Amino acid sequence: MTRRKLVVGNWKMNGLRAHLPQVAAIGAEASAHGAVEVGLCVPATLIGMANEARGGAFIGGQDCHVKATGAHTGCLSAEMLREAGATWVIVGHSERRADQGETDADVAGKALAGHAQGLKVILCVGESLEIRDSGEAVPFVLAQLEASLPEGAAAQWLSIAYEPVWCIGTGRIPTMEQIAEMHSAIRGALVKRIGEDGNAMRILYGGSVNAANAAEVFAVADVDGGLVGGASLKVDSFGPIIEAAAA
Ligand code: PEP
Repeated sequence: MTRRKLVVGNWKMNGLRAHLPQVAAIGAEASAHGAVEVGLCVPATLIGMANEARGGAFIGGQDCHVKATGAHTGCLSAEMLREAGATWVIVGHSERRADQGETDADVAGKALAGHAQGLKVILCVGESLEIRDSGEAVPFVLAQLEASLPEGAAAQWLSIAYEPVWCIGTGRIPTMEQIAEMHSAIRGALVKRIGEDGNAMRILYGGSVNAANAAEVFAVADVDGGLVGGASLKVDSFGPIIEAAAA
């Protein structure tokens, strides 16, 4: 099964008008490496402007509300993201699960809300260091996946990002064996849940991916690309990651 590599930058709460030249430069890198699907999930305030500068990259949001409209001060619906120019959305990032108390059920609802608006969805799962150290990382992540994956999930619109919480922004990454074990377990769970289409679904690794480790990570079986935080903010650090995925 050939799966096109997917490399997505998560800008988190970073990005102002002054950073649009970086979007353009990353978009040019994306155009130059068409074998890889490249995107930037930027702050919602930047989606419209980033969309004009995006070149060969897609622009996504970092979260959406489960509901379409209503009394939810400060929240954004999937339709709002789409109207602003987003074509993708991240749901269930560990920072939102921790900071906003999002549950697996919330995450499944958000994925469906994004899909209902025609957005492609990246659904994040991952264990804490405590769970990793307890030896329960695989069963924990599979349970989180099972509960967060919405009914009707399909490879055409949904990808998974395995992001160990202890590796996000820390400079640490698991061993390649640990990544392989988890991605293989996720692949098996996807096939069990949704059948053959589970083999077509992309599973990204996320957590301290950088220019130095990207090639090794992307060479691991069942790693179909990366979700990249800090290193995606500048083309100087994100470009080599895109190139590693294209190699
Ligand atoms: C992320 O938060 O999705 C992430 C992978 O961050 P970083 O690459 O900075 O660890």
